[in-house]
Amino acid sequence: MTAILGCIADDFTGATDLAGLLARSGAKVSLRIGVPDGPSADPAPFEVIALKIRTAPAPDAVAQARAALAWLRRAGAERFFWKYCSTFDSTAHGNIGPVAEALLDDLGAAQTIYAPAFPENGRRVFMGTLFVGRQPLAESPMRDHPLTPMRDSDLTRLLTPQVTQGVGLVDRPTVARGPDAVAGALADLAGQGAAHVVMDAVTDEDLRAIATACRDMALLTGGSALAMPLPDLYRADGLLDRDRAPAPGAGVGGGTVVLSGSCSAMTNAQVAAHRDGGAPSYRLDPLALAGDGAGPALDWLAAQDLTRAPLIYATAPPDAVRAAQDRLGAAEAGALVEAALAACAVAARDAGAGRFVVAGGETSGAVTQALGVTRLDIGPEIAPGVPWTFCDSGGRRIALALKSGNFGAETFFADAQATS
Ligand code: ADP
Repeated sequence: MTAILGCIADDFTGATDLAGLLARSGAKVSLRIGVPDGPSADPAPFEVIALKIRTAPAPDAVAQARAALAWLRRAGAERFFWKYCSTFDSTAHGNIGPVAEALLDDLGAAQTIYAPAFPENGRRVFMGTLFVGRQPLAESPMRDHPLTPMRDSDLTRLLTPQVTQGVGLVDRPTVARGPDAVAGALADLAGQGAAHVVMDAVTDEDLRAIATACRDMALLTGGSALAMPLPDLYRADGLLDRDRAPAPGAGVGGGTVVLSGSCSAMTNAQVAAHRDGGAPSYRLDPLALAGDGAGPALDWLAAQDLTRAPLIYATAPPDAVRAAQDRLGAAEAGALVEAALAACAVAARDAGAGRFVVAGGETSGAVTQALGVTRLDIGPEIAPGVPWTFCDSGGRRIALALKSGNFGAETFFADAQATS
């Protein structure tokens, strides 16, 4: 088998989100954590490489993305997808544009699109402005994200300083006229030198029109929802067969632990709901971690009954996050929390936990790294964009649910336990 679409995601939960949506089609989807060392013996039709570069300096992010592209090309892919968050998370020196530009260069392609919209999760783009629910991005809770606070909602304005070539927009009235109108607008923009084109999309129908028009572009960029129509389009084009892949979740043991390092508004609500539901819980305080390390949390965890899905969380409201960051610095506070949650994951695995529910993109990266996981098989979806994934760790088969901050319903932690 050869890879049809090679995907590069800027963080772990973004990668699982994308892989989960692709797996809805029944096609086999393989997720690699980091760029694999050797060549791929048996590539899946959809190969997703998860990097951890969302907040990395642009030159570092570019180097890793190019290495991923080279591996995916060796796996046989001829079409590529650069996946970032549907809230366009990037720092002031953001690397979404620089990575896209480098990939275009390597592929010898002249133009790509930027379509972060994810209507099912309330992310929509209209006239270049990204909305989260009814709020422009910069007025949404993303304004106060611990690592990538978003203070502008206009995607063309966010992108322009990140790239060297021209930026354009295909607006909603055009997208609503369908794939031919989209293709025509992109050709016009190419003639005007726009290599980087932001795509308005308000509904799934808009994304389908964009995917239909752009399915043979060498490089697509966007949120995971843009990729959803691709398997069916590839089937219609005769590139992908219609067989469904076998379920990958056999042999996972009992016992669950919930590890939450996201401070998003939704995760705060999910943590509250899980505690209110009676789950045992332990709050990690970055200041206490700086003084005492993770020992007290590990002691608490060792005493827990894993059938009750104990919760360990650093999740806190924005004022508490700011207070910890003022004392420790944002990077140090984040690193302390990530290291503690990663240590808890390893301890829980060694105590026999089979299922791990992890909230937070960076947090998930730290946890999977600590568990020594390099390849995940994609299973059933718990919430839009969040599948159960299955892998080997410490000689056993385990299941991981890796959720980025704002994903899932308030009942997500219980929903994960109810999905198998
Ligand atoms: P999300 O998916 O919501 O963006 P991430 O895990 O990617 O979540 O990012 C959240 C970051 O905030 C992590 O680096 C995490 O360690 C850090 N963090 C978590 N809790 C706190 C806290 N109480 N104070 C400061 N930083 C925190």
